[in-house]
Amino acid sequence: MFKFNNEQLVFKESARELVEKHIEKGANERNNNKLYPTEVLKKLGELGYKGLLIPEYYEGTELDIVSASLIIYEVAKSDASLAHLLATANFGFVYPILRYGSEAQHEKYLRACAAGEKEGIFAYVEPQTEIKTILQPGGEAYVLNGTKCMITNAPYADYAMVAVTNHQPVPEMERLTTVIVDLKNTPGVEIGKAEETMGLNSLKIAEIFFNNVELDEDSFLGEQNQGGDIIIDTTNLMRISNCAIALGIAERAYEEALAYARFRKIYSTPLIEMQAIKHNFADMKAELEVIKLLTFHTASCFRQKAWEDFDNCAMAKYKVTEKAKSICDYCLQIFGGYGYIQGNTIERLYRDIRAMTILGGDSDRLKSFLAMGI
Ligand SMILES: Cc1cc2nc3c(=O)[nH]c(=O)nc-3n(C[C@H](O)[C@H](O)[C@H](O)COP(=O)(O)OP(=O)(O)OC[C@H]3O[C@@H](n4cnc5c(N)ncnc54)[C@H](O)[C@@H]3O)c2cc1C
Repeated sequence: MFKFNNEQLVFKESARELVEKHIEKGANERNNNKLYPTEVLKKLGELGYKGLLIPEYYEGTELDIVSASLIIYEVAKSDASLAHLLATANFGFVYPILRYGSEAQHEKYLRACAAGEKEGIFAYVEPQTEIKTILQPGGEAYVLNGTKCMITNAPYADYAMVAVTNHQPVPEMERLTTVIVDLKNTPGVEIGKAEETMGLNSLKIAEIFFNNVELDEDSFLGEQNQGGDIIIDTTNLMRISNCAIALGIAERAYEEALAYARFRKIYSTPLIEMQAIKHNFADMKAELEVIKLLTFHTASCFRQKAWEDFDNCAMAKYKVTEKAKSICDYCLQIFGGYGYIQGNTIERLYRDIRAMTILGGDSDRLKSFLAMGI
């Protein structure tokens, strides 16, 4: 129902071909054996998939948000871990650099990301609920101390955009600053052990520790104390990618369940011929169309304005991921006991979708935020 333009459809088709050629074959093996997709990511980097939003001037692919989201969705149908890694690199790191970085930062980070040589991540969440990672002036440099947790791709990434605070007596959002940290070459930066997760097993999340890390002013992304807007703007875009990933997972679950329902006979009747089952598939078909519409409509309306986009992206993230989760739940049910056996694609999809109503802002929190505006 969403009306993609011809150019967007071409990108979607090329992503589908890429998935068929380089991603689908090893997706179950990578995820079931918790293998990081080193080779696939290298290939995607060479093909420009780590520079989806980067202007051609910096040798990037220069896509609009809808096209980039379409690519993430196509990849998620096959491998949600890989889709989330791409979303983090493109939306969580490249986007804020592109939007708020200086010319020198553009030259330094965008060219390397576009070429697939480097990648960055987005480090916001901390073990406690408020931001305590603190940046303080200290002689010649600024000094950073604190801990970020559950950060996607921390064990492998080159750079992180990090949300930091200070001691000023103002609300948290007004004292946040965003800094770019070189994770591999900065004394005092330490990456924790990769966590064992329930799903999305081909990506790694870990803690990042900052112990008296010295940074100079070139590390600031945007102005000091303006990090709140940068974080919100980036989180809004990440929420669109959360929708694209959840949609991809749910669509794949639907396809898997439909194929099984056509094949599996209860006595001599294929499951899909039973009216109750067929009606449930009709329901899911309609629901998938609704969440697809919501995902790409939200992507097409993205204005790059932190607070103006906030409600749209929060509502879409909440509704799309919750609906996708319930679709995956029913699709697993269609497989009966076989759905519960490890190693089946449907079982992986069920575990992967579970992360999507949590990461990027859990559903209850999003509802609380939305409720504030009522
Ligand atoms: C696979 C994965 C990848 C991740 N990647 C990243 C990353 O790259 N960068 C990053 O910064 N973070 C990342 N995270 C962290 C993720 O964003 C957080 O886990 C998520 O936002 C929830 O925060 P929390 O875990 O601190 O839960 P809490 O904030 O402790 O919330 C726990 C529960 O309390 C309830 N709750 C919380 N707040 C409210 C509220 N305001 N109103 C009502 N109920 C509420 C909800 O039910 C919620 O689920 C990742 C997490 C996972 C699982």
